[in-house]
Amino acid sequence: MIRLNQYTEIAEPKDPAPDFPKYTFSLTPISELNQYIGNQGAFLDVIEKITAVSNAATLETSSGTIKLRRIIHLVHHSENMIELSLFGPRAQEFDGDTVYEVGRKSHVIAIFVGTSMKQYKGSPPFLSGTATCRWYVNENDVTEIRDFYKRLPIQAEPVKKLHLKNHEEIQRQIETKSLLELREINPFDHAGLKFECTTVIIQVAQNQYWCYPACTACGSRSIFDGGKYHCSKDGCTGTSIEHRYKVCLIASDTTWQLRFMLFQDRAMQLIGKSVEKLLTTYRKSDTPPEISALVGQKFTFIVRVLPEKKLIDHDPMFEVLNIKKIFGKQFQIPDVKIERKPASSTTSTSEEHNLPPLVPICPKAWENKSTSSSSQQIYNIDDSQIELTGILQDKTARKALDMKNEEQLQDTHEKEHLSQRAKRSFYIASRHT
Ligand SMILES: [Zn+2]
Repeated sequence: MIRLNQYTEIAEPKDPAPDFPKYTFSLTPISELNQYIGNQGAFLDVIEKITAVSNAATLETSSGTIKLRRIIHLVHHSENMIELSLFGPRAQEFDGDTVYEVGRKSHVIAIFVGTSMKQYKGSPPFLSGTATCRWYVNENDVTEIRDFYKRLPIQAEPVKKLHLKNHEEIQRQIETKSLLELREINPFDHAGLKFECTTVIIQVAQNQYWCYPACTACGSRSIFDGGKYHCSKDGCTGTSIEHRYKVCLIASDTTWQLRFMLFQDRAMQLIGKSVEKLLTTYRKSDTPPEISALVGQKFTFIVRVLPEKKLIDHDPMFEVLNIKKIFGKQFQIPDVKIERKPASSTTSTSEEHNLPPLVPICPKAWENKSTSSSSQQIYNIDDSQIELTGILQDKTARKALDMKNEEQLQDTHEKEHLSQRAKRSFYIASRHT
């Protein structure tokens, strides 16, 4: 490998030596590729048979830029298929149409050089071909390609055509949902689906660190034990870390409130400073003002539900994949927050994580308000909060809340008096979960 730095001078030779190699590569067996996942310094050269090729389609990256991507399916004799994604100019330069035409009747064997192994959370590892990537396809004067060819059956299976959607097409398919609708998303069934929502940040989730030590090799959480960091991902031996953002925000759109996670790039985009920079001033347990400043801001997010490992007893949580629109600070923050007053002395752990209260399910709850039954939960409106989560169904409660909202607009000297009124209890409708 040759490393270039700022002192490297590159000159194009006028008369290259006749023995200057036309092809140059150092092949890595497909079975060894996984050990290079996330290793940005490892440029990998592979020889494979092409079994499928896609069109070059536009893709919106996590940072919001649009670039081209083409995917190619590669198979090494009897081994499993690995996907290669060519990005940017490489996606366009690869002659997919000719590969498809030739591949209808004969084998297409390619050596791709300068690729790297990547893996996104929840998807299989893949080869990535960017600026450093080049390829040699069906070159008869490459011994390795000829040897590979000899081991293939005479009858070639046609190269398949894959259709990759353009980002506009994908964008059109993203459903817009209210937070109440998002609440119904099933983390087990709808893991990969993207949704659009417009919401105002009302709070930074408490009792949570805003960053975490991430393994530099794979990005998974690292655990400090025995004087050093260990990656929590099975099979990863990474011991070096960098702190990355994991900011949990509570947002509302007047229909409901939900938790949204902003990981590294999205958080950087909104906060404008690196985690390391903030860590020089603030502790992990303190919310930096740079993060608190997000409260009151309105955004249109593209989100997906975060996977759950076990059955959930709280509303699903969403990861912000893209920030589609920034509206800025809102004059009015939506709604009133309802806090659950525990019916018994037992403490709800969900309260500690700012989750909406779980309401027991019981029929005919509203027929008999005068008796205290298990189907009815008493809630107190905390006048320091202004979030109505939309589960009030009782007219009395609604009226009282309207009164409270009006009162909030009045003179702040009445606050003492107001707090008495706001401490009224309300019956909240049971909701089937
Ligand atoms: Zn790791």
